[in-house]
Amino acid sequence: MNTAVPNTALLDKAVFRRYLELPQPENKIMATYIWIDGTGENLRAKTRTVDQEPRSPNELSWWNFDGSSTGQADGSNSDIYLKPVAIYKDPFMLGRNKLVMCETYKYNKEPTATNKRLSCEEAMNAAHSEHPWFGLEQEYTLLDRDGWPFGWPKGGFPHPQGPYYCGVGACQALGRDIVEAHYKACLYAGINVSGTNAESMPSQWEYQVGPCEGIEAGDQLWVSRYLLLRIAEEFGVQVSFDPKPIVGDWNGAGCHCNFSTQVMREPNGIVAINHAIKVLQTQHTAHIQRYGRNNERRLTGRHETANINICTTGIANRYVSVRVPRQVAEDKCGYLEDRRPASNCDPYDVTDALVRTLCLSHKE
Ligand code: ADP
Ligand code: MN
Ligand code: MN
Ligand code: MN
Ligand code: MN
Repeated sequence: MNTAVPNTALLDKAVFRRYLELPQPENKIMATYIWIDGTGENLRAKTRTVDQEPRSPNELSWWNFDGSSTGQADGSNSDIYLKPVAIYKDPFMLGRNKLVMCETYKYNKEPTATNKRLSCEEAMNAAHSEHPWFGLEQEYTLLDRDGWPFGWPKGGFPHPQGPYYCGVGACQALGRDIVEAHYKACLYAGINVSGTNAESMPSQWEYQVGPCEGIEAGDQLWVSRYLLLRIAEEFGVQVSFDPKPIVGDWNGAGCHCNFSTQVMREPNGIVAINHAIKVLQTQHTAHIQRYGRNNERRLTGRHETANINICTTGIANRYVSVRVPRQVAEDKCGYLEDRRPASNCDPYDVTDALVRTLCLSHKE
């Protein structure tokens, strides 16, 4: 990013608040349509006025944007359609205003290359009777405007890893205002955040979304990323979802996916969990291809990861690909933790892969 760009975080927020507090006409609702762009990792958004508060996404009409500016179409045939699929309360504009997660479609109504949601939703519908739940642990790194981690000494490194994981204190926890503002904003919006913690690398953090059933996991995680980017923007800080932002003895960033079906959650579900892990081991390469770009830089077998070339398992072991949590082994039911997905993964792709491999492969 170009650090010469003016820092909007420095604009006078007291002046801004005067206008935010202006009453809004009854029949004017702001709906911010959010979508995944041509990178498959970055989000875009634009806002329109609608005359009624939408209660469900089907009450909002399809819209469009210039796909030639987002890596999604040629300039000569540039209109891409936006299909509203999930709505949330808008923690920025407040009131009855809405955030709207959207799918993208080409001129011929075929999904774009980065629309992974369509296939995901088909899989979730087909597996509905097994009630698949997901808990996604989103890790990310805060960066200063020059691209160096937030709060790190310029041209140098902080004290080595150790004091930062779940750390407290001025030199342990870097950027907590952003983390807590994001947590509150997610809960306000209607996102099922289950927790947050500081990570092993300073300026690296995690929050968890879930458990969510089916397609909601992907919808909620993407909107939670939007909220994080928007809030960090207000603070003048960048968010990186790079799976290994700093080479060397610094942890990478993942997006562990905790998964269960109803059978796994019921007494003696451990049998189904162990069977699922065996099936996952036969599909390792296919899953890795769908678990995020540049993940080989993170899955090295060091820094609480397993090597990318093997699919290992174990109880309470953080150096395996698929972990059975200690409590799950004790209870003999619960869920498995797929530790392979990278922080920049598309959760639609990850949850789609898991459900197709574990719930649908015997049916297809
Ligand atoms: P870790 O010990 O790996 O750091 P976290 O506590 O960060 O685990 O995240 C665990 C996630 O798993 C949470 O989002 C939680 O809601 C979710 N979870 C709990 N039970 C289940 C379940 N039965 N199926 C799927 N996800 C679950
Ligand atoms: Mn225009
Ligand atoms: Mn965690
Ligand atoms: Mn973590
Ligand atoms: Mn985990």
